[in-house]
Amino acid sequence: IVKLTFTPIRRSEETVGLITVLQDVTEEEKLDRQRKEFVANVSHELRTPLTTIKSYLEALDEGGAMEDPELAARFLRVTRQESERMTRLIHDLLQLSRLDSRKIRFNRQPLAVGEVLSDAADRFTVQCEQKEIDLRLHLSDPLPRIYADRDQLDQVLDNLMSNAVKYTPEGKSITVTARRRFDGFVIIAVSDTGIGIPKKDLDRIFERFYRVDKARSRSMGGTGLGLAIAKEIVETHGGKITMDSRYGFGTTVRFTLPPCEPEVVR
Ligand code: ADP
Repeated sequence: IVKLTFTPIRRSEETVGLITVLQDVTEEEKLDRQRKEFVANVSHELRTPLTTIKSYLEALDEGGAMEDPELAARFLRVTRQESERMTRLIHDLLQLSRLDSRKIRFNRQPLAVGEVLSDAADRFTVQCEQKEIDLRLHLSDPLPRIYADRDQLDQVLDNLMSNAVKYTPEGKSITVTARRRFDGFVIIAVSDTGIGIPKKDLDRIFERFYRVDKARSRSMGGTGLGLAIAKEIVETHGGKITMDSRYGFGTTVRFTLPPCEPEVVR
């Protein structure tokens, strides 16, 4: 997008020339559009559960649903689920906003990757067992210690692993791997054999609120911010995050983290 500005050059009363300024405002326009989209998305995401809560409460209050204990219990359950969704959404939004404004102080320390990953796998054992998902952990040897904030790294892993569990059908598998790259950075990958993502969606998948299937994400309790948060955290650590996926076959998310001591690359 190019913005054109013309300024006439006048000598006495006569126009003797024209200064033309061509300005590339593509980036500015893009940022402005993204900001507007974000505000619209936040409003929509908050209004949806609120509308549900309001209509269920009205049904209880005025519609006589209270007389039917089973119906009343169901309506209350939905109301609670929706308010929990709003809490999650606000929690994620606050976290993103703190990351954006660099308000979170990262407490970076040397960490043993193997330990961090096996603890993360442990947190998902029950969920995987419930869906009969085979959860595997492969660590290549040797792995340098990384320099990262443990809580933030746990958040990245939790977001990626909960996606893997959410979008992988029963009886399939999830594999978490870690290996050292030539420059000492550690590459961590979370792979699943789930529903996958169509190629056309991959470019935008780390954008805030971008989802392949809104209804499915909502029914799984997702906020649409998990990957955006993971990306912010990884990039603040000086790493990169990427996603590969084959629709119908599975998805792999990889991210890199720096080693404790920069190594001399020979
Ligand atoms: P959500 O809360 O909706 O899961 P995320 O930001 O974590 O939000 O992910 C964004 C979207 O990316 C999801 O709605 C889903 O469409 C897609 N997605 C993320 N991880 C996976 C995965 N492992 N398999 C398939 N689709 C995924």
